[in-house]
Amino acid sequence: MKRLYRNAQIASEDSSKLMHGDVLVEAGFIIGVAAEITGVTDAEVIDCTGRILLPSLFDIHVHAREPGQEQKENIASCAEAAINGGVTGFVMMPNTSPAIDNAGVVRTLLESARSTRIGASLYTSGAITKGRKGEELAGIAGMKAAGAVMLTDDGFPVDNPQVLRRAMEYARDFDIPLSSHCEVKELSGKGCMHEGKVSYALGLPGIPSISEEICISRDIRLAEYTGVHLNIQHVTTAEGMGTIKRAKDRGIRVTCEIAPHHLMFNHEDIGDYDTNYKMNPPLRTKEDNALLLQGLKDGWFDVIATDHAPHTPFEKNQDFASAPFGITGLETALTSLYDAFISKDILDWGLIVKRYSAEPRRLMKLAPVPIKEGGIADFILFNPGRTTTFTREFMKSKSFNTPFLNKTLQGMVERVIYRGEELLAR
Ligand SMILES: [Zn+2]
Repeated sequence: MKRLYRNAQIASEDSSKLMHGDVLVEAGFIIGVAAEITGVTDAEVIDCTGRILLPSLFDIHVHAREPGQEQKENIASCAEAAINGGVTGFVMMPNTSPAIDNAGVVRTLLESARSTRIGASLYTSGAITKGRKGEELAGIAGMKAAGAVMLTDDGFPVDNPQVLRRAMEYARDFDIPLSSHCEVKELSGKGCMHEGKVSYALGLPGIPSISEEICISRDIRLAEYTGVHLNIQHVTTAEGMGTIKRAKDRGIRVTCEIAPHHLMFNHEDIGDYDTNYKMNPPLRTKEDNALLLQGLKDGWFDVIATDHAPHTPFEKNQDFASAPFGITGLETALTSLYDAFISKDILDWGLIVKRYSAEPRRLMKLAPVPIKEGGIADFILFNPGRTTTFTREFMKSKSFNTPFLNKTLQGMVERVIYRGEELLAR
């Protein structure tokens, strides 16, 4: 069965402009891309007028909460949440209970992932240290052999620089990227939001920017020393971003992530102690928002990644200081980026494709999925003319701890095509 996506605006990482055209799909592959495809009589025709057709998204920072925290999320619900947002592949984080810190857990998880509708594109990271305790190295060789694509103790930094140095040497030798959650625990203390005028006003303990920035500097220096590929997770401060940029300019193998919420929100949005604005690292300042956005435009960030972090209402309904860190992101990322930036010509579609589809796959040593003849049919159709209301019913994640809950944004992920199959059409 052929399917003809007619009259679409096609996005590519190579251009800030959209290309008008038709896309023909058969048996999982794109068999034609042209300004106009004529003479095809045996295809289902899908009118894409006014829609953007772009390669599917890939998220390298996702908490699927399996094993052990299935009340928040599991791989199956996480995969459906991803599809709902136009994401057809992701990398799971190892801060689960127990932690993903050995080959056996990696194998079990990947097996469990296979039964989802995007099973072939789900990956997991493995912990750097056993139990993410920062003391003893986890079985890195075994996890890599079992299929782990990245190492991280996400949620925590590796406090001991000697442990981190050894981990980096292993990661370098096994050619696997090491991702750092950068934070100096002694500086963060019991902090639950950015340390600044808003934390003083709210009477909440703060996490100063230097907590993140000092750890970024340390980890980069260790990466330079060991030669590992270091990825810095969820950068939130302009100073930290600048440190990474200078390291890149010196030829150090460092990449970095920006989360949509750190572009859109800042500590003033916490308002009346709204725990849907509590995450770690925390929302910083308006100035950081603007400089991070400029950094993204200038190519300083390698990838956009959501840090999708589901929590139950029971947990998030606690007081601000007690509630857990994190918000969901897979279902809202693209539409919120459209609503906040693309629709206002602040970001273009080419950048989104590069930073949230192509580069994340490359970072994990996977092939991107550009819309070209002979390529795999892994793309989404986005309708800027419709709106999305993020109700509990709309969301497929088990959790709905997001600042966008019950908000209506411009744009809609209308169709998701994965290996030729239409996983979603609305
Ligand atoms: Zn983290």
